[in-house]
Amino acid sequence: MLQVSGLHAGYGDSEVLQGLDFDVGAGEVVCLLGANGVGKTTTMGVLSGLVPASEGRVRYDGADLLALPSHERVKAGLALSPEGRKVFPNLTVEENLYLGSFNRNARAHRARKLDEVYALFPRLAERRTQSAGLMSGGEQQMLALGRALMSNPRMLLLDEPSLGLAPLVVQAVFGAIRTIAATNISILLVEQNTHAALSVAGRGYVMAAGRIVYSGDAAALRQSPELRDAFIGGKSARDKSARKGEALDA
Ligand code: ATP
Repeated sequence: MLQVSGLHAGYGDSEVLQGLDFDVGAGEVVCLLGANGVGKTTTMGVLSGLVPASEGRVRYDGADLLALPSHERVKAGLALSPEGRKVFPNLTVEENLYLGSFNRNARAHRARKLDEVYALFPRLAERRTQSAGLMSGGEQQMLALGRALMSNPRMLLLDEPSLGLAPLVVQAVFGAIRTIAATNISILLVEQNTHAALSVAGRGYVMAAGRIVYSGDAAALRQSPELRDAFIGGKSARDKSARKGEALDA
């Protein structure tokens, strides 16, 4: 469903992605693992149209994804749940969800998707009139996932859903991801929490310095020295949360 080949991208003179190759099949959950700064979020940025590619190809459902502007990608069923959640803090939970179904294709399914999101995350239903900025980190993560689901996606791009969350909250969020995956939505999951990622992904890739250095099924990845090596010298997710000024959320 998604085929990335020879992808290069970066910021100004600094090239971050240096010939990235990977694919995600229909209905698959695939994770992209690697330490801080290897280019995972940049990859999500290129796929969602926020960061331009300088070289390479991305096929999505047979089409040239890089030729489409961001909003057309969403219309084609590709939705991003961004790193750091990025909910609109002054809007209510329900207003945030409505923004996820802004495009014409998604608007037709709005009522049904809203029911599905509230069934998946009853907490969001309870808090539908509350300002999103007053929600806990875990609730905001659920809202970011729900907002992505509102666009009626066929493929979700999930960028570090575990970031800054306490272990029990991570479990709840990954339980929801498993439920979403069972509805046959394809998922590309970027994570530093390899344990959580490999609990839902069937397959994955290890990234280092803008390239894939290893790929395999979840069982092979758990054993792979490449995965361990990818994190040596990298900072832990906790360090990163602290750097971004986020407290671990109970
Ligand atoms: P992290 O988990 O820390 O987000 P990552 O693997 O997702 O790591 P990226 O966020 O893609 O990595 O960052 C890759 C490199 O690109 C880093 O060196 C980062 O400093 C740099 N970078 C990211 N965003 C920008 C930007 N907007 N402008 C300039 N450099 C950037």
